[in-house]
Amino acid sequence: MSDADFERAKPLVMGRQDHRCLRCGVWLRAGQWPGYAVHHRMNRRRADPEWRHSPANLVALCGTDNAIGCHGWVHRHPEEANRLGLYLRAGQDPRTTPVIDWRGRSLLLDDQGDYTTTTERTIP
Ligand SMILES: [Zn+2]
Repeated sequence: MSDADFERAKPLVMGRQDHRCLRCGVWLRAGQWPGYAVHHRMNRRRADPEWRHSPANLVALCGTDNAIGCHGWVHRHPEEANRLGLYLRAGQDPRTTPVIDWRGRSLLLDDQGDYTTTTERTIP
């Protein structure tokens, strides 16, 4: 998957989340502090090229860079972020690893930009 795939996935990700930060629920608006980023749950280098830029591997978070907002929080707290499914380790698959949203729902994200709610929490 290429950067073009990433650009195509972004609006799907934003729509899936109703333009809210997945972690805190704040409305995401371009040009408004702290901005937002479309974050790779499994970082680009480690992610399988097959699903690197799949909507399943992407979540929109407030904070434009790695220092502020929830995006910054994820990068500063990899352990907690891993428990929430926001930060994945080698061997984890974003399509089978749920992510917990700001409402506390456990979501399985798919390649089409949709999700299913899971009742089972696979938090280790
Ligand atoms: Zn946030």
